Amino acid sequence: MRITCPNCGERDRREFYYQGDALALSRPASDAGPEAWDDYLHNRDNPAGDTRDLWFHEAGCGAWLVVERNTVTHAVHKATLAEKVKR
Ligand SMILES: [Zn+2]
Repeated sequence: MRITCPNCGERDRREFYYQGDALALSRPASDAGPEAWDDYLHNRDNPAGDTRDLWFHEAGCGAWLVVERNTVTHAVHKATLAEKVKR
């Protein structure tokens, strides 16, 4: 699998560290109830198909990316700097 880093260009996935669902960017407010925090911390979908994940370009520029990809076909649709993704 190849990921195109916005800073470095196309690279092998082994240069990146997978961090999980990009849902981590949508943190509840500090005063959100326990149900919202429980859901945020413990519940994740595990879809077969399109996903939106966080990847860290460990062997490159050190940027956090939101990578949109398909877990069935392994096609990478898009990689965006996490700092530029709307939450
Ligand atoms: Zn990079």
